[in-house]
Amino acid sequence: MKLIDKDALSMELMNEVLNAYAKADFRFAHALNVFQGLIDKAPTVEERKHGHWVRHNNIIACSECIWDMYWEERNTELNYCPNCGAIMDGDENV
Ligand SMILES: [Zn+2]
Repeated sequence: MKLIDKDALSMELMNEVLNAYAKADFRFAHALNVFQGLIDKAPTVEERKHGHWVRHNNIIACSECIWDMYWEERNTELNYCPNCGAIMDGDENV
């Protein structure tokens, strides 16, 4: 799956709609408006990173954003990074 910027695509489409109206090409403008409706209805997906805790002495760090904290037994139970939101289900768990 490739993620695209829905807002950027909508902006490009809006420019094309305005160009079509400027040329009095109302059929094409209508078709573009139909596409815009499909884009508006398309589901939004959340891209979420996957990582693991990396431990060095008394510090553990997120493998994705390098955010770190003192190692304690209870914080290794966190299944996500509080800083970047990465899901901690990768290999090499502490
Ligand atoms: Zn992180």
